[in-house]
Amino acid sequence: MIRKTCLFCLCFIFIIHTGVLFGSTDAEDKEQLDFYYAKLKADVSIDNTLHVMTYLARLRQLSISQNAKEIEIESYFLEAMIKRRYGAYGDGVKLNHYALKLAKSAGNEEYTAWAYLHLAHLELELERFTLALDYIQYPIDFYKNNNANYAALMFLWQSKIYLRMGSYYQALQANSEALKVVTSSMNIYSELAINQAEILLKLGNIEAAKLALSLVDLKKLGGSKARIKLHYYLALANSHLQTGGLNQAIEIALAQLENPINLRFLEEQARLQYLIAIAYRQQSDYKLAYKYLKRYALSKDALSLQRRNNKVLQLESHYKFDLQNQELKLLGKDNILKEQRLDQQQQAFTNHRLQQQRWVLGAVLLFSIVGFVYWRWQNQRYLVVLKQRVAERTQELAKSNERLKAMSFTDSLTDLHNRHYFFSVINELLVDFNSLPDNTELQRLVFALIDIDKFKNINDSFGHSVGDQVLEQFSHLLKQQVRSDDLLIRWGGEEFLLVMKNTSYDEAAHTVEKIRAEIADHLFTLNNGESLHATCSIGFASYPLLGTKPQLFSWEQIIELADGGLYLAKENQRNAWVGIKASDSTSHQQSEDVVKNYRVYLEQRTLHVTTNIERTLKY
Ligand code: GH3
Ligand code: MG
Ligand code: MG
Repeated sequence: MIRKTCLFCLCFIFIIHTGVLFGSTDAEDKEQLDFYYAKLKADVSIDNTLHVMTYLARLRQLSISQNAKEIEIESYFLEAMIKRRYGAYGDGVKLNHYALKLAKSAGNEEYTAWAYLHLAHLELELERFTLALDYIQYPIDFYKNNNANYAALMFLWQSKIYLRMGSYYQALQANSEALKVVTSSMNIYSELAINQAEILLKLGNIEAAKLALSLVDLKKLGGSKARIKLHYYLALANSHLQTGGLNQAIEIALAQLENPINLRFLEEQARLQYLIAIAYRQQSDYKLAYKYLKRYALSKDALSLQRRNNKVLQLESHYKFDLQNQELKLLGKDNILKEQRLDQQQQAFTNHRLQQQRWVLGAVLLFSIVGFVYWRWQNQRYLVVLKQRVAERTQELAKSNERLKAMSFTDSLTDLHNRHYFFSVINELLVDFNSLPDNTELQRLVFALIDIDKFKNINDSFGHSVGDQVLEQFSHLLKQQVRSDDLLIRWGGEEFLLVMKNTSYDEAAHTVEKIRAEIADHLFTLNNGESLHATCSIGFASYPLLGTKPQLFSWEQIIELADGGLYLAKENQRNAWVGIKASDSTSHQQSEDVVKNYRVYLEQRTLHVTTNIERTLKY
């Protein structure tokens, strides 16, 4: 059983699928659409509109699927017309509005005009005349200059609206506009003539109305114009009624009332019944008059009920429309609010970003300023430090220059001043003497040259380093023997110059003896623990050499004389001192010669010596 059911289901699905796959193709749809459209045209032309309803939905579906806009619009027109015919005015209005929207969106002006015409027609039925007049204006403007037949039709509808409004002269005017653009050969001509007649009847111009009716050719109206024909007969009956042709009026009216085609035209039926009632009353047949008056009342009731219903529907649809509109407006407002909110949010966001950028810029600026200030501060600090360092370095340099100077003036081995130092200070020492006139009694400078005896032997015997140690100790001993303001100079190798300030010749002799004795008595101790004795010889001379003639000898010449004394001490004994002094007879001219040949002058006793050597000196 289950298996059978499954098989059945599969077959069913297969059939459906093959139906979908092979049942309809585009070409077939097109064919179907064409077929139904042709069928619709044919049905409409013979007023077989009810039958149309059987395939209208399919036709519309096909038109939508194939984007056949015009057919789709026509389908709405037709459905609206059918609905209107059967009293569903609300639906008619809705369908036509829908058709109007479609036509506008498709840019189809002609269908737009027709949609307006249909709406005008519906509004007329609903007795909303102002709206109807508004709607009919568009098709009038559209057809006025390009299609006489349709332009006439639109004017006719405008005229019908005026007629129903009771604006008969305006109705006549609109009808005349229509008649201006048509010829009597056109189909619409008869319809215009009927309308003219109806207006004229309202205006009481019966003869003119009859004349108009005589121009009507009913054959030209065709089978689909049942209502127009009915209007023709109504007008005709009316014209007879108004001119006393009561039987004719009744006959015409009765014929139309009995025609089943006219059953659907409730309003015209009511008018026919009323007309018959009037005619019977005029014939004093009150029974029949009452009968038709009653029928007329019933028709009127039905009509007003229909109209009321339609109005309710219309109101309802309008109410819904209004509601929708209101909703739309609310939505619109909501949208605007949302947009505003979005704008505000965006603005806030932009502001926030701007603020952020400002902060970042500010921060960068602040950072730059702080950086710059810091850089300046650091720079200045660095400058101060630099200046300080330069000052320190300058001071150091000055100090080191001092040191260098001191070093350059100091003998590294003995720590005594050297020859350079002596030369740098000697002129200062002699300043006081330079400008002295002769015979000035003053304190003198004594130049003494001290030389270690046989020092070469010490070097040779004990080595150069021992020689150095002896030189160091020798210097030390000398320093101890001289006064603090005396100048002690290492004059060369193992030779020293002692410059004694404010010292007389005799005082100098005393000092050099002290030195000689001290050295001779001293035991030089060596680093290796050994010790030795050394002696020294001294030669000295005072400056000026002659108190009476202070400018006679230069200091160089005095040192040469002191050196002469040293030679004499060495030659005659060693471990001895010899001082040389001049006698007053020494003249200026002789000074160079005296220095050069001091030995000769000593022989001649122009120069004299003082010495610790006891035996007579050899020159
Ligand atoms: P005199 O008694 O005649 O002066 O004999 P002398 O040997 O002392 O004299 P000489 O001029 O013949 O020799 C001096 C020696 O002193 C020669 C030299 O090598 C040495 N001498 C000079 N300067 C230094 C020094 O700084 N250190 C050492 N160790 N020796 C020096
Ligand atoms: Mg020497
Ligand atoms: Mg020597």
